[in-house]
Amino acid sequence: MTIISRFAPSPTGLLHMGHAYSAWLGRQRADTWLVRMEDIDTIRCKPEFAVGIQEDLAWLGLNWDGHILFQTRHLNQYNQALTSLQAQGLLYPCFCTRAEIAKAQSAPHAHENIYPGTCRALPLAIRTQRMEAGHPYALRLDTKRACHSVGPLRFFDEALGWVMAEPWRLGDIVLARKDVPTSYHLCVVHDDSLQGVTHVIRGEDLREATHIQVLLQALLGYETPVYVHHKLLLGADGKRLAKRDKALTLQALRVSGLSPDKIIERLRQA
Ligand code: GLU
Repeated sequence: MTIISRFAPSPTGLLHMGHAYSAWLGRQRADTWLVRMEDIDTIRCKPEFAVGIQEDLAWLGLNWDGHILFQTRHLNQYNQALTSLQAQGLLYPCFCTRAEIAKAQSAPHAHENIYPGTCRALPLAIRTQRMEAGHPYALRLDTKRACHSVGPLRFFDEALGWVMAEPWRLGDIVLARKDVPTSYHLCVVHDDSLQGVTHVIRGEDLREATHIQVLLQALLGYETPVYVHHKLLLGADGKRLAKRDKALTLQALRVSGLSPDKIIERLRQA
């Protein structure tokens, strides 16, 4: 089987050893290895980070195949996916502010990370009135209804075998944000399908996201790829590497005189 995989960084900062590990694993496994810039967050993403990421990958000798896909360059395609979900009656407008959501989540019995569902139950007249008055709104997936419409789903996780998807664990996720007419989950499933990705190779911190992405694939008629959720590299303090750990960016390591071979050697031993 030909393995098509992708490395999909968000250019909100420079790459660190954790990203390098993910990219290196992907490049090793894939026959075709694609790079995708997940740049829909136009406030946090910066063109200079996208350039820096390409420089780092090239310096490490992790050469990608074909063109780099920038998500902001094809926003209209996400809209088609959204329209399809809307036609299935699975989306609703959410007018809640972050503060309102946080307040509802702090109530007794509320789940702290899941949207409390306030706007799902909003009467149609109020919805219409708010929309006509120009109140900003996001579009959320009615996840329970969506789960009922497609029935049980599973995905193959290389480390765990077949896993039953439990999309409701993430609640009613946002599919179109107030500021951008799409969202992380929608773009990922759309682009993985568009790019013919057969194996999603990414950190195990995204295993939770897989549950909801599998649901979106079923709703949109996309194939579900194989998932390889790899371990996360930890820093000297035992915490996972993050973009804020500036000293460990590949750029900093390069400036300190470390060679690409040494970095790859470290990744091999990780
Ligand atoms: N853009 C995501 C990130 O940088 C990765 C998305 C994915 O691999 O599915 O965390």
